[in-house]
Amino acid sequence: MNGCVFCNIIKGEIPCKKIYEDNDFFCFMDIKPISKGHVLVVPKKHCENILDFPTEASKRLVEITKKLATIVVKAVGADGFNVGMNNGKAAGQAVFHAHLHIIPRFDNDGLSSWPGKDVTEEELNFIKDKIVTFL
Ligand code: AMP
Repeated sequence: MNGCVFCNIIKGEIPCKKIYEDNDFFCFMDIKPISKGHVLVVPKKHCENILDFPTEASKRLVEITKKLATIVVKAVGADGFNVGMNNGKAAGQAVFHAHLHIIPRFDNDGLSSWPGKDVTEEELNFIKDKIVTFL
């Protein structure tokens, strides 16, 4: 898509540190890594987020993510990793071309996970009941 930074990377018009490519996916180092070895897994065909990512390609996406996460963890000596995806501006998405983040984690690396909130059972029930009405 015109003006999409990831489309331009995939086309070779913007340089990147590529680690893997096949017919459908393109994977490279995040330019501003959250941790050492932070990698992005990007579908070549432009789609904005998980909702318009083709379901039939998801098996391959998971396969590639598992393969790269295993390799990256080994390469950087990580103790674990996060797989993340931001969908929508409110969720922190900055590049509107769907992508997964593989973020290596290290024991006591100081990166905090999202803080959970204490809620009552009534609050949980209320929102659960609302969600399931949309199924
Ligand atoms: P998100 O907030 O999920 O949209 O993440 C976008 C990610 O793309 C951020 O972690 C950026 O650091 C990364 N990024 C943006 N531009 C580039 C680029 N030219 N090369 C590599 N990574 C990039």
